[in-house]
Amino acid sequence: MVTQKPGPTPPKPGATPPDEVPGAPLHDAPERSRWHPETLTCAFEGHVAPAARVREVGAEDRLLAMVTADGVRLARCLRCDAWVVADPSEFGSGGDRLPPLSEIKMPQRGKALKDALVLKLIAVDRAVHAIVFALVAVIVLVLELHLAPVQGDVRQFLNDTQAGVAGTGQGASQSFFIRQLHHLADVNRHTLLVVLFTASVYAVLEGAEAFGLWRQRRWAEYLTAIATAGFLPLELHELADRVSVGRVIALVVNLAVLGYLLWAKRLFGIRGGVHEDEAELRTAEILPALPGQYPAADAGGALSGS
Ligand SMILES: [Zn+2]
Repeated sequence: MVTQKPGPTPPKPGATPPDEVPGAPLHDAPERSRWHPETLTCAFEGHVAPAARVREVGAEDRLLAMVTADGVRLARCLRCDAWVVADPSEFGSGGDRLPPLSEIKMPQRGKALKDALVLKLIAVDRAVHAIVFALVAVIVLVLELHLAPVQGDVRQFLNDTQAGVAGTGQGASQSFFIRQLHHLADVNRHTLLVVLFTASVYAVLEGAEAFGLWRQRRWAEYLTAIATAGFLPLELHELADRVSVGRVIALVVNLAVLGYLLWAKRLFGIRGGVHEDEAELRTAEILPALPGQYPAADAGGALSGS
């Protein structure tokens, strides 16, 4: 059994001696992760097994391909490390031979993949916010353009309704709806313009966060962290004003997002800063060697992707 020697030296692409290959061999690492983003991603997007599609494989491809005694080719998935049975009808569709490992583009794995999934989750959250703010902006704009006739109709409706329910005892059950209509009947143009401006700014801001986070842009992580931190006092103020499930959930989600960005993505120099994060991401994408499959030192051992 080959085990990894612990050591702080980062691997050098193209010159990694076998005993410094990062990441424990797979059979030694059942505790490698509580959940496997690689397996999840392969389940949705399929495996990335280039050795399944080349015409021929040889001994130099042993990190990525194996041929069993009865001639069945197994190809290693570069993302989840599963060995998949290659379909002979696809041989040759990916060229004649595998290029050197250093020239194969590695899919995201490990921390890089986990980060990508979490950032996409936050991006979806921000996209939903952006859509809601955009809808509010559109509704307020329409209202702004037709304020006088709408308020006339609302006042007419309120007069009719109050005359109708005066003797029925239904006043209390309608109070929330009626209260909102009273607000609408009394709202002025200036207030609407403030709401329109605020909703538009939020829609653009959250839309930019969603776009950048989905594409894993560092600027979007900073923008999201700053915006989320900036809104925390407002959220706390609202919560102090009135506690509701929605407000508590919003606060918890935003605290989790902020904590993740600061801690895991190491923004603002935290835990060594984003350079540490980037180094960690590069290391995470290096293909771990398998037992009995360590490349010979002269073969380069070029385990890192581009
Ligand atoms: Zn896979």
